[in-house]
Amino acid sequence: DNLTEDLDDLARDLDATHVFHSWSAQGQPSQLVIASGRGCRVWDHSGREYLDFSSQLVNVNIGHQHPAVVSAIKEQADLLTTIAPSTVNLARGEAAKRIVARAPKGHSKVFFTNGGADANENAIRLARLHTGRDTILSTYRSYHGNTGAAIVATGDWRRIPNRYARGHAHFFGPYLYRSEFWADTPEQESERALQHLRRVIESEGPATIAAVLLETVPGTAGVLVPPPGYLAGVRELCDAHGILLILDEVMAGFGRTGRWFAFDGYDVTPDLITFAKGVNSGYIPAGGVIISDEISADFDAHVFPGGLTYSGHPLAMASIVATLDAMESEGIVEHARQVGAEAIAPALTELAEKHAVIGEVRGEGVFWALELVADPETRAPLPAAEVGRIKGALLERGLLPFIADNRIHVVPPCVVTADEVAEATAIYDEVLGTVQL
Ligand code: PLP
Repeated sequence: DNLTEDLDDLARDLDATHVFHSWSAQGQPSQLVIASGRGCRVWDHSGREYLDFSSQLVNVNIGHQHPAVVSAIKEQADLLTTIAPSTVNLARGEAAKRIVARAPKGHSKVFFTNGGADANENAIRLARLHTGRDTILSTYRSYHGNTGAAIVATGDWRRIPNRYARGHAHFFGPYLYRSEFWADTPEQESERALQHLRRVIESEGPATIAAVLLETVPGTAGVLVPPPGYLAGVRELCDAHGILLILDEVMAGFGRTGRWFAFDGYDVTPDLITFAKGVNSGYIPAGGVIISDEISADFDAHVFPGGLTYSGHPLAMASIVATLDAMESEGIVEHARQVGAEAIAPALTELAEKHAVIGEVRGEGVFWALELVADPETRAPLPAAEVGRIKGALLERGLLPFIADNRIHVVPPCVVTADEVAEATAIYDEVLGTVQL
């Protein structure tokens, strides 16, 4: 009715006048109002519904407004809404215990942060302090967050205007569809990407390198599932030179791949693990670093030179406890694996057979990308204007998409049903059918 439409207009008006937005030109304000949500769906004030196949920024793994998490936040708010990080707080200990329970043996401690960027910031700091070395190697196809070292560790364009931190170098990771190594098979891609990393390590000076920082499955860069042997090979190269391995599980962790951690699917044990997003589905901002016992022992007698006012914030901690308990008791991670294998994979494969604009489908769990191309032979990316038109058309049909460069990332909450996958597939199908190659 008119009143609720007025609220949508009021929201747009206030936003355009007073809110300064991330990664965008401020003169073209978004028109998309979201006022409420439930599960895989969100609504504006007037009740216009969207099927959320973005999980927002690929973080709402448990779905919107999970009742157990919402009540845990309310209960904690009634008890204690904030407390200094130097105090002992039961919710914090319970959250840390549940997180390390999913980590490899020999990782007993968690340093809590406000999100993913500062998780990487502090992992980088720990690696430098532990090794006494400076350099951090990371890939060009990566995103690690928007703070001092994290944005310079990032490989994508967002690093370029923000390069104020020192001690970073980059390399290419595996990406068979657009191979930097002229590879034809996953095995070749893996082997050649490792040879390239070996040469970068040798050329940067192995004894100066503190850590290799990798997204286990690079997310925003295109859901680049690593080929067989790659992560184990990186671990071997690190071990040969006393270099630490930091795995960034901010987007890939806590169910996204159909596993608790993405690295559970590979023969690799990281020294430091960063997380955020899925750990509590972003209901309260939170992130952290899981620290190996060897590294945390450095700080048994020495002061750790780092901290945050909101490290281990009680509302965030209560939301983590409730999220991880619900994910466990409701089998949400197992569901993500199953719905990925049984519903999403076949649906997207069929779409790709039908639409030549889909150059490649890749992913696992609820973590997928459709790579859109102007020409399937040359694999030239679909131009940005056409990708923008597709985005608008999906929204118009009530599907909230995640678009990055020339890709649609199919990244619904872990709780998505086969029926919702079918509903989304019909929308992708209709819109991709309008693309003229
Ligand atoms: N690392 C990865 C892999 C991410 O995808 C992101 C965010 O998209 C970050 C780090 C940064 O997290 P935050 O935005 O919570 O700082």
